[in-house]
Amino acid sequence: MSVWADLEESLSSCTENPSGELALLTEAVTGLEPERFRLLRLRGDLPELTSQQTDRLAALIQRRRSGIPVQYLVGRADFYGRSFSVREGVLIPRFDTEILIDTALKHLRDGDSILDLCAGSGCIGFTLGAELHLSVTSVEKFDAAFSVLCENRDRICPSARLIQGDVLSDPVDGVYDMILSNPPYIPTSDLSTLSAEVQKEPVTALDGGDDGLDFYRIILRRYAANLRDGGFMLFECGIGQASAIAELFREAGYDAPFTVRDYGGVERVVGAQRSKEIS
Ligand code: GLN
Repeated sequence: MSVWADLEESLSSCTENPSGELALLTEAVTGLEPERFRLLRLRGDLPELTSQQTDRLAALIQRRRSGIPVQYLVGRADFYGRSFSVREGVLIPRFDTEILIDTALKHLRDGDSILDLCAGSGCIGFTLGAELHLSVTSVEKFDAAFSVLCENRDRICPSARLIQGDVLSDPVDGVYDMILSNPPYIPTSDLSTLSAEVQKEPVTALDGGDDGLDFYRIILRRYAANLRDGGFMLFECGIGQASAIAELFREAGYDAPFTVRDYGGVERVVGAQRSKEIS
């Protein structure tokens, strides 16, 4: 077997996409872009690795095999066609969240203002701010995530305003056309059942309390005054949570909450439009 087949084989025990991950890890070591890697590999034309590169690649593969997500190893994750910086301490942007972007884009216009709560890498607010001309405010509590948020803001949405603060207790000023959040939503007792990769992500970005719904309850209560009449509140949620969150919306005075399925058929977004009656 060639050295590349050996390396791919050693990744196959920890990922369903060993060839794609090998391309990403090779890029981190050699700078060779994944598309080019694939092409040269098909042609049997890949350049020889130096022994130093071979050692670095082997070390990365070893770390990958210990359960560290490939995105942390290469320092980036793709989301909605853009590359976001990530590292340990920040939730990795997920494909599941792209439906939240699609839903938000249906209700936004150039010039609107948005507030992204529990922003993490910033992928929600900054993607929207890069797709349209928006005034973006992103709130994140934790230092490690906040420093990643700053980096992504500078590259992807330089006009965004960042606030380091606790969504659950710090005041946020302003009235917005849309409030969005992908808050922590895993029930505490489920945390230990998550995959090794997800357990390498910050528990603070995952733990949504006893039933996983703590953040929805509090955000719906605390931010009512930060949403303009006619504005939209949109959340991502976990599998099986949408109807309970729709009920929380109704209790908070929103009359027509709606849900949107993601591309895997899961009810992934819950939202509602604010009407005048909500105080
Ligand atoms: N989508 C993440 C997962 O499946 C959870 C992210 C969150 O809690 N917001 O692990």
